[in-house]
Amino acid sequence: MVNLKHAEKGTAPLYDRLHLCLVKPSKYDDDGYVIRYWKGVLPSNTLACLYGLSEDVKKRGALGENLDWQIDTIDETVQRVDVAHIARQSRHKGTKTVVCLVGVQSNQFPRAADLALEFRREGLDVLIGGFHVSGIISTLPDIPDDLLALQSAGVTLVAGEVENRWETILKDAMNNALKPLYDFLKESPDISMAPMPRIPKSLLNRYAVKHFATLDCGRGCPFQCTFCTVINVQGRQMRYRCVDSIAERVRENYRTHNISYYFFTDDNFCRNKNWEPILDALIKLREEEHIPVSFMIQVDTQSHRIPGFIEKAIRAGCSQVFIGMESINEENLKAAGKKQNRVADFKNLVNAYHEAGIATHLAYIIGFPFDSEESVHRDIQNLQLLGADQASFFMLTPLPGSMDYRQFLSAGTMMDADLNNFDSFHETFRHARLKPRVWTRCYDKAWKEFYSVENMKRILKNAKPQKYWDLFLNFIWYKNAIQVEEGHPMLHGFVRLKGRRERRATYPLESRWVYFKRRARDIWRTLIGWSKLALEMEEVWLQTRHRSSLEERVVLELGHYHKRVSEWRKLRLPELRTLYRQAALALEKSSHRHFSSPVRIPSYFQLWLQKWNVFSDSLTFTRFPMRWYWRSVLRQLKQGQIHRIQLFKTAFTGFREFILFVRFLKALAKRADYSMLALEQ
Ligand code: SF4
Repeated sequence: MVNLKHAEKGTAPLYDRLHLCLVKPSKYDDDGYVIRYWKGVLPSNTLACLYGLSEDVKKRGALGENLDWQIDTIDETVQRVDVAHIARQSRHKGTKTVVCLVGVQSNQFPRAADLALEFRREGLDVLIGGFHVSGIISTLPDIPDDLLALQSAGVTLVAGEVENRWETILKDAMNNALKPLYDFLKESPDISMAPMPRIPKSLLNRYAVKHFATLDCGRGCPFQCTFCTVINVQGRQMRYRCVDSIAERVRENYRTHNISYYFFTDDNFCRNKNWEPILDALIKLREEEHIPVSFMIQVDTQSHRIPGFIEKAIRAGCSQVFIGMESINEENLKAAGKKQNRVADFKNLVNAYHEAGIATHLAYIIGFPFDSEESVHRDIQNLQLLGADQASFFMLTPLPGSMDYRQFLSAGTMMDADLNNFDSFHETFRHARLKPRVWTRCYDKAWKEFYSVENMKRILKNAKPQKYWDLFLNFIWYKNAIQVEEGHPMLHGFVRLKGRRERRATYPLESRWVYFKRRARDIWRTLIGWSKLALEMEEVWLQTRHRSSLEERVVLELGHYHKRVSEWRKLRLPELRTLYRQAALALEKSSHRHFSSPVRIPSYFQLWLQKWNVFSDSLTFTRFPMRWYWRSVLRQLKQGQIHRIQLFKTAFTGFREFILFVRFLKALAKRADYSMLALEQ
């Protein structure tokens, strides 16, 4: 198959075809199944970086002008990794197959290790890189047993970043000379002229938002938070990509893939010394080239004090900032080495972005040393008062590569032996003040409280009109992950997929019948979860939706009837309808008599017609009366008083529910146009 004789003499290449499989592994759920979704939420930037680097080596012909390349990118959170199929392809004459498990985080390591061994059993070359391997190598004096076991199975470990080194690694692979370890941690590469991340079109289609991509404009962070792995893996010295390359990538992505929304994955965008030229370049793209680019960035809590930062960010298309607030307890912040965070300044921080029209998204960690059940509850209440638009919660996790991990090791603190749980939503050590399971309860409660109907309503009512639907859709995304999928919004996507055989080796392979019952239960739970979520979000929409001018004026008229406007919310549906007609007619009369109204008031006849137009807008701001009615029907059913259920009223309420729901869906669909308009502005 391979002409080794020629190869030894250096007269001919060993292979004429390279099949490069770039795989971003997923992780196992608590039942041992691989987490995979029909539609994902966040594309992997590491996968995009490695794809960009590989395309660059290919374009330059660095491995041979005549080498035939096949580069596959697989994100296991949205694609099945078909080991047998890849192995079959590798048997083609003259083909070298290299499997690279990229961007592997600690919680993905058990899955990555299982995949690596499967590929090795098929005789393929396998490399594992990412934060876990890098974190372990940077922290421990010796390579631990699990990594040694992989090495002895022939797996290559890669620690650190591979910019400027990727070509060498691939050359080694083509010469069958991969080393057991590539350690680049001592010297972080200069990324100023490195090839830019790219995402293949085939992968884009697998995410819920197709015009969304990730891109890192810089790496590293100058701060020293004890729980963070960035500083030990990517360093405290900030490094930057070339501004022109960033602008060119954004331009090309828009032209070729219609990508207009970005998550700039820099851990701290505002500490990139090029933040201003980058934002200027994006402003130019928007204002001169009419590319409707928009993006989300991660910033620190002092970012609002950087002169001109917020003003330029909004002009450049920044729609949301992800802020590492972590805690609103001063003692916790001190313990975490988060010296730059000042609780007294948090309100100003949120207000500064809010006033500029940029949504604020707070990262909040539960499980710091001074957290207790009561304090967490109190802090989450206070967190809501800051007026942030979104929050993401995490449980403190001593991730390999962080200072916490080192400290835990030197203090001999027991940690969970299963790395699959190091995902920041499992308890991984014994907390001094939060008992086992109480900690998880606090964490679950934090999500529930922040994304309660009341708090979502408050946020949406305070939101700038152009932010309304962006936030609303984010709430659907988050609530789907928390409530329906019972996972974390940054990992869990839409419509869970499972494979019977895609199960962790430590769990038994279920029979078809047992597996079928499990899936039937899953699907039923998902359907119930979606129904509840849909009704909940419909209620949020009804109570916060934009009111037409007519509705505003009718509400005012209703206020005259009832003195206090708030009281009409307690009215029942038929009473509301009667009042609505009376108010509209009164309004019509007064507008004819006293002034020429800019609002078009429908006549009684038009109102009567509207009644039968099921798609017309009407003065409904809550599902409360319907909910109340269904409860009474349920009660009657439970008490066996079926004869007391009014058939006509039940049918009418059901019809009313249906119409309201159609109107809700219509508003959601319309939002797509609105959002694109907002981006273009
Ligand atoms: S947590 Fe954020 S601010 Fe702190 S060191 Fe890590 S990247 Fe920097």
